[in-house]
Amino acid sequence: MPERAVRIAIIGAGPSAYYAAAALIGQEDVEVRVDMFDRLPAPYGLVRYGVAPDHQRIKSVAALYEKTANDPRVRFFGCVEFGKHITIDSLRPLYDMLVFATGAQSDRSLDIPGEDLQGSMSATEFVAWYNGHPDYRDLNPNLEVEGVAVVGVGNVAMDVARILAKTVDELKETDIAEHALEALKQSKVKNIYVLGRRGAAQAKFTNPEIKEFGKLEHADPVVLASELELDPHSAATVEQDRMARQNVEILREYAARGQGGKPRKVHFRFLVSPVEITGRDGRVAAMKIERNRLVSTPDGYLNAEGTGEFEELPVGMVLRSVGYKGTPLPGVPYDKRKGTIPNDHGRVLNPATGDVIPGAYVVGWAKRGPTGVIGTNKKDAEETVALMLEDVKHLRRAAVAHGQDKKLEDLLAETGCKYISFEEWQKANALEVERGKAKGRPRVKFINIEEIRTALGG
Ligand code: NAP
Repeated sequence: MPERAVRIAIIGAGPSAYYAAAALIGQEDVEVRVDMFDRLPAPYGLVRYGVAPDHQRIKSVAALYEKTANDPRVRFFGCVEFGKHITIDSLRPLYDMLVFATGAQSDRSLDIPGEDLQGSMSATEFVAWYNGHPDYRDLNPNLEVEGVAVVGVGNVAMDVARILAKTVDELKETDIAEHALEALKQSKVKNIYVLGRRGAAQAKFTNPEIKEFGKLEHADPVVLASELELDPHSAATVEQDRMARQNVEILREYAARGQGGKPRKVHFRFLVSPVEITGRDGRVAAMKIERNRLVSTPDGYLNAEGTGEFEELPVGMVLRSVGYKGTPLPGVPYDKRKGTIPNDHGRVLNPATGDVIPGAYVVGWAKRGPTGVIGTNKKDAEETVALMLEDVKHLRRAAVAHGQDKKLEDLLAETGCKYISFEEWQKANALEVERGKAKGRPRVKFINIEEIRTALGG
């Protein structure tokens, strides 16, 4: 077989995939060719479908990914589903190395009665809906309700609470999906309850995110001073941890403001856990919450423990925002407890033996779980790529010869896959931006592949 570049398939085209591709083409020791496959027609994963539409600065990182995507050594194949169009077995003969960059596509549940009622959903579904993810186009959340509970106090909870709290004027210059903008125009939501099971010092949101609630046009943050009192352990946390300290200071400032005069309220509640969602005619009608106290575990972690004191919140919608969770991929090892692909610093492991599976790697949330900001994935991907480059020397190469791209085309054609290339995506992207210009928006998104194909002329 003629000497050829190392052929690498990356499954997923989100931030971790692009950081891995950038690290692979950014080194000079090994010649590589990288093919990226994504189930969705558009690249960039959570940058397009997760990051809030009013956080355009964070989205500007896509320009970096585009640079990588435009490198002749990198190709993008959209609308290609792992498990349907491609599998481990069909990719192995074509690629020397496989990299899983599939993120965490599901979410954790609360395991409380009433979670299945209409109007109770995960924040991730709601996020996907307002960001124009094709699978959630028809979620149709009922915004004719006055009260919404958002469970969890991470940055995803901040995103959904803020989008619900903002006016259409505050959102109309973003790239929020048109259907979401239309629905939010009719919103009757007045009270948004953001619920932390532990105290303010344990909140996971970051300072800029909580600060934004102090500057909304139409909504006041409401905080009970009594829920900000710190036990000695939390006081010590606040001493040592700058982010926690500033979070508490911001919340104290909100508490001092009182109720405020704006029509919408975002109530930040701490030391409360949902215990039941109650319904009427199959729909969410209220949420029963229990007051908690913090209990220190032997390893110093502060756990929330119910006190037996209950309260009812009048809500018609519940968004659980208690963390993303990975989902298993067909034929790929999966750690059910962590929701990740078992790995040693990015080398995929056989869970039965603990041995490394040659030529299989993982990056991003599928590797370490759903934590960290977009940029965290850069270092994480570079760690995996460094191991890939170490392994190249001992690699058993796939039988495919240089220039045999035809085999991939055949494979995709055989499985009925009409993929979308990066060039096609770039044309669709330009059209989205063009549509946005007329409305003073960064872009007006196409939602599904049919819309894209129609716009591209069939
Ligand atoms: P997260 O930061 O892990 O927050 C999850 C929240 O859910 C925590 O407050 C957690 O409380 C709570 N929780 C978990 N189980 C619960 C239960 N059974 N009942 C009540 N509360 C429960 O997760 P995330 O908000 O999904 O964010 C994921 C990652 O994306 C984070 O690293 C985040 O910073 C990042 N992100 C960043 C941005 C941004 O930069 N603007 C935006 C969105 C997301 P405990 O602490 O008590 O477990």
